Amino acid sequence: MDLQLTNKSALISASTSGIGYSIARTLAREGCRVFVNGRDQGKTEAAADRIRSEVPGADATPIAADLSTAEGAAQLFPQLPDVDILVNNLGIYEPVEFTDADDALWRRFFEVNVLSGVRLTRHYLPGMIRRNWGRVVFIASESAIQIPKEMIHYGMTKTAQIAISRGLAESVAGTGVTINSVLPGPTRTDGVEEFVAKVSGGNDFAAFEKTFFESVRPTSLTRRFAHPDEVAALTAFVASPLASSTTGAALRTEGGIVKSLV
Ligand code: NAD
Repeated sequence: MDLQLTNKSALISASTSGIGYSIARTLAREGCRVFVNGRDQGKTEAAADRIRSEVPGADATPIAADLSTAEGAAQLFPQLPDVDILVNNLGIYEPVEFTDADDALWRRFFEVNVLSGVRLTRHYLPGMIRRNWGRVVFIASESAIQIPKEMIHYGMTKTAQIAISRGLAESVAGTGVTINSVLPGPTRTDGVEEFVAKVSGGNDFAAFEKTFFESVRPTSLTRRFAHPDEVAALTAFVASPLASSTTGAALRTEGGIVKSLV
């Protein structure tokens, strides 16, 4: 299927590894001009180089900026005034007991996971509306609608993302701009490997995966961690002209964890 993405420009926040990297590589493979973002200049350049080596002819430009801060966003905008596609992928996660989560932690999660996407969308949406075409995709989580008791602070930010995404879609009704959220479930990324190492005390990943799907996420239908490319495939479709009637939606790619008919 040709996703008709040739020459569209796409910014993917936090795309030097994990789901963001897979999305950037998939969009590059589909002919997009991708802007790869991370905080570290060297790592960001290395990620763009890697995309060019994995996808012959790829147009990948590194832009280093810490998008969890207003200063980082302000640094990025003059370098990239407009994009056709914005993927708000930046997000952190960490299990912390509710009673141990202080104000600073709640603020940090809100700042990184929610405000980063708000700021980027506030900047890029007016141009999309003027050109009467654009795509904004928030990478939320299944945790937006099934709040994990060990990460209430995280679930809250993911619920906020789908609320913002729906509200924004309403605000651009009747234009060629669509705004959606994508809800991945457990996906094997560097961040998750670190998380697993921390909570399992160094147990091997396969053992953790088996126990995790038996006891922590027993409603999963796939009973495995997804590959980041599986999330990237849905994201690329929703970012494409082909998905023109999909807007205001929360699209699940979570292995069926959420027991819901729609
Ligand atoms: P990850 O932890 O593997 O990290 C991805 C990248 O984010 C890294 O390259 C890191 O350098 C970069 N990064 C971190 N802070 C940054 C900042 N302030 N500015 C710029 N870059 C920064 O991430 P992931 O697991 O791929 O998750 C990506 C998104 O998907 C997040 O929003 C996450 O909440 C969501 N998600 C992940 C999973 C999962 O199981 N991995 C499940 C559901 C939702």
